[in-house]
Amino acid sequence: MDLQFSKEDEEFRSEFRAWLDTNLPQDMRTEDWWRPKSDDEQFQIRRDWEKKKAEAGYCGIQWPTEFGGRGGSPTMKAIYDEEMAKANAPRTVNPLGLAFLGPTVMAIGTDEQKAAIIKPLLHTDVIWCQGFSEPGAGSDLAALQMKAVPQGTDYLINGQKIWTTNAMHGDKIFTLARTSEGAKRHDGISMLLIDMHQPGVEARPLKQITGESEFGEVFFTDALCPQDEVLGGEGNGWMTAMLLLSFERGSSAIGQYTEFRRQWDAVAQIAKQVERDGKKASQDPVLRQQLANSLVDLECLKYHSWHVLTATSQGKDLGYEASMTKMMWSETFRKVSDTYEAILGSAFQVPEYQGLTLEELTTMALWSRSCTIWGGSAQVQRSIVAERVLGLPR
Ligand SMILES: Cc1cc2nc3c(=O)[nH]c(=O)nc-3n(C[C@H](O)[C@H](O)[C@H](O)COP(=O)(O)OP(=O)(O)OC[C@H]3O[C@@H](n4cnc5c(N)ncnc54)[C@H](O)[C@@H]3O)c2cc1C
Repeated sequence: MDLQFSKEDEEFRSEFRAWLDTNLPQDMRTEDWWRPKSDDEQFQIRRDWEKKKAEAGYCGIQWPTEFGGRGGSPTMKAIYDEEMAKANAPRTVNPLGLAFLGPTVMAIGTDEQKAAIIKPLLHTDVIWCQGFSEPGAGSDLAALQMKAVPQGTDYLINGQKIWTTNAMHGDKIFTLARTSEGAKRHDGISMLLIDMHQPGVEARPLKQITGESEFGEVFFTDALCPQDEVLGGEGNGWMTAMLLLSFERGSSAIGQYTEFRRQWDAVAQIAKQVERDGKKASQDPVLRQQLANSLVDLECLKYHSWHVLTATSQGKDLGYEASMTKMMWSETFRKVSDTYEAILGSAFQVPEYQGLTLEELTTMALWSRSCTIWGGSAQVQRSIVAERVLGLPR
């Protein structure tokens, strides 16, 4: 494991930090500034800020320069994630496009798709949604039912997607639909790139436990998609989807570690301030154990992230081993949140308590619950690690 960054990496860090110092106002780094703004206002501010950052050259850190990326190394990407988390910078408005679609298009897209998709995605000109899950198809994705029937030069699409992140702000959606009936469940599926600004596509928000509606349902009623807007070829949707999902894996979790560690520090401070059973929560032996336990897990996450970073910097493809990273960061995050909940009791759900403003930690505790579900639930990741990494019997 390599625990040093190179001189070139450190120069990049200083340069990016200086850019953030100048271009990310202090108030934008605080919850107080964002709280009074609506979901739509917040999204637009984040979108504009991310565009400005892209125009300054801080986007697609590891993506080739020919596609508008920075052509950097895995360590530069880790530094970028770390600095963004340290500055509490706005999270990306295009997470699905960046994590999944861009790398897939670079790998198997046509030249026209590469030109049309990648730069607009990096510059937030087009916001991408992912339309995989359906009411009857989640972990069991091959149960999907959405249909796309050829009509002239288009497909005519009918069906429903659910839990679609950015449903209310998406411009386009990469989605799985059945373009023919195959002998097996995985056959006859295609990945379509559908314009969401058309009469046949209706997005409805779903309110989350955090109070936000950053995901929703998307209904397709005789929606149209040109037949050349298929990624990976007609009928190859399952293979394309598996390739696409593999791109989320493999990155280190240094950005997540940095964010969760900042939150753990805040939780430890709260423990010194709030009263539990007539004394400070930090003096309670059980809560102290829980705090220490979650810190140990956090530090393990840090070293695991360094291990992954070293491996990817040496060109190693982590393959299914990368499921361990998703499992580890999401469960560690839950542990930090569970500790916070134990310290406050049921009051963890309220943003003001004993004279303290706890907005960020309340959101953290509520949001963390979703992280062991999306992108493949913790149970499903465990099965992947057991069967495909450790070779245990099914
Ligand atoms: C915040 C958030 C954002 C999301 N964004 C998107 C998005 O943008 N696009 C999109 O397509 N989807 C999105 N999803 C959906 C997400 O991918 C699914 O929720 C997830 O795949 C689980 O599917 P499900 O909800 O149908 O649960 P189910 O698959 O019904 O699972 C229910 C429970 O059973 C367990 N389980 C299921 N199968 C197995 C198995 N084989 N072995 C062991 N345990 C199993 C699961 O772990 C879970 O605990 C999002 C979800 C969340 C929470």
